[in-house]
Amino acid sequence: MYITNFQHFPDKNGNIPKDMPKEARELANFLALLIDDATTNDYDSEPEIRCIENNCPGLIVPTLIEEYNEIYWVCTHCKTSGVISNWRGTKWDNNNS
Ligand SMILES: [Zn+2]
Repeated sequence: MYITNFQHFPDKNGNIPKDMPKEARELANFLALLIDDATTNDYDSEPEIRCIENNCPGLIVPTLIEEYNEIYWVCTHCKTSGVISNWRGTKWDNNNS
C-alpha cells in the first residue's frame, strides 16, 4: 500500500518539479491525476487512470474520504492501493475555490 503525503511533491509554486527523479515524478503525476479525479463531481464516469504497476492493465478508482481529508485509491486489477493525504489546496484540488 502506498501511503503518500502529497505535500512532499510540489515545489514552492505548486508544480511538480521537472528535475525530480523519473520514478518520483511519475508517482507525483499519477497522484495528481487521482486528486483531480477524486475532487471532480462526475460520479457516473468510468475509471480511466492507468495503474502504475508494470504491465498491469488495471484502472484506478479514487475515493474521496471527506471525513479524513484523504483519498483512497485501488486498482481494479492487481488491487494495489494507497492513501493520499495533505493534498487539499493543491492545484489539482477542484474544491479549492
Ligand atoms: Zn494494477
